[in-house]
Amino acid sequence: MKPVTCDILIIGAGPAGSSAAVSAAKKGMDVLVVEQRAEIGVPVQCAEYIPAPLVGQLNMGTGFVVQKVLKMRSILPDGFTTEMAAPGFMIHRDRFDQTLAQMALKLGVRFLLSAKAAERTEKGHVVIKKAVGETHIIDPRIIIGADGPRSRTASWCAVSTRDLLPAVQYSLKLRTPMTHTEVYLSPDFYGGYGWLFPKGETANVGLGLKRHNAPLKGIQALLVEFVEKLRKTGKIEGQPLGSNGGLIPTAPLEKAVYGNILLAGDAAGHAHPITGAGIFTAVSCGRMAGRWAAEAIKKKDLGILSKYDHEWRDLFGHTLDRAHEKRRIMEKQWACFDQIIKSCWIGFREYYHEHAPDEQ
Ligand SMILES: Cc1cc2nc3c(=O)[nH]c(=O)nc-3n(C[C@H](O)[C@H](O)[C@H](O)COP(=O)(O)OP(=O)(O)OC[C@H]3O[C@@H](n4cnc5c(N)ncnc54)[C@H](O)[C@@H]3O)c2cc1C
Repeated sequence: MKPVTCDILIIGAGPAGSSAAVSAAKKGMDVLVVEQRAEIGVPVQCAEYIPAPLVGQLNMGTGFVVQKVLKMRSILPDGFTTEMAAPGFMIHRDRFDQTLAQMALKLGVRFLLSAKAAERTEKGHVVIKKAVGETHIIDPRIIIGADGPRSRTASWCAVSTRDLLPAVQYSLKLRTPMTHTEVYLSPDFYGGYGWLFPKGETANVGLGLKRHNAPLKGIQALLVEFVEKLRKTGKIEGQPLGSNGGLIPTAPLEKAVYGNILLAGDAAGHAHPITGAGIFTAVSCGRMAGRWAAEAIKKKDLGILSKYDHEWRDLFGHTLDRAHEKRRIMEKQWACFDQIIKSCWIGFREYYHEHAPDEQ
């Protein structure tokens, strides 16, 4: 079979992949995106909050926005509550991903759906398996792996975002509209937290936590209990209208460039190791990856790709590494939950203090 050539092959049409496609196509590249799903953004696996500046930067309209959010409330088991400004939007995540892909399509990017990147041959060709059974061989000059937390592309680079946090979520009817998100911290939620994010007349109520060596209860049972507790407060009502879940990387890779392969978004562990938020960094790093890939092709110099590592590390490295270090301390000292939680959750002032010597 004769391989199909392209300048840049992007694996995954999530926020990182489509953003990479847009920036590369703007530089005149011939871009092919392969996505294993039949429909972009479906099913949704997300609590659907994005920070406000992202919408301004993207110039993609607001067709996917459900409502505004002004603040985030962090709540401890004894009821202690603190608030911080968190201007942002609750979105229809499927529409958000589809809007980004539409932008790329308009710039001439080719999309192949129901198409899974299965393997990379010794010649550097990528074997794509279509759901219907056909196989395509792609011969790209550069590959961008934007294939999420279980990145196949990362495995071709002999790296992986091993450290993954499982998260599950229900959609429930919200009794009274809210303009803030709520985060619930508890010693029961090992290395994670529960959330209630308002989405118009409904709310996304979920739980993300690390697997404990000796779990007392599974994540699903804890979510049911958490929902029950929120129901008793009168914030939500009725039975779940839907459910979803997924994995969140909690450890950023040191570098995201390997030969002619760049990793972006969850594939590179670009989600925030404490909050799990990853849409903003996926879009930003995806754009950078697409831009540097185009530059390297134009100048016929793969060495240029290292500038991608410099740029994303300059912009996000400090924040991600700090959060990763906080996570390490938090997981190690979880038994002392009351003493450590304020310095390990972004909603508290203590998070921004330097580490105390006993935290090192
Ligand atoms: C339950 C949950 C709630 C979350 N809530 C939030 C939130 O409120 N706000 C926030 O900012 N972040 C949130 N996140 C994190 C956020 O969803 C991710 O950080 C973000 O989706 C990363 O984008 P991405 O493009 O890197 O990866 P993804 O969105 O995962 O996209 C990867 C794409 O690659 C495709 N793919 C995978 N393997 C292959 C393959 N071999 N071949 C072809 N295609 C492939 C997948 O089908 C997918 O479409 C949440 C995550 C979870 C699990």
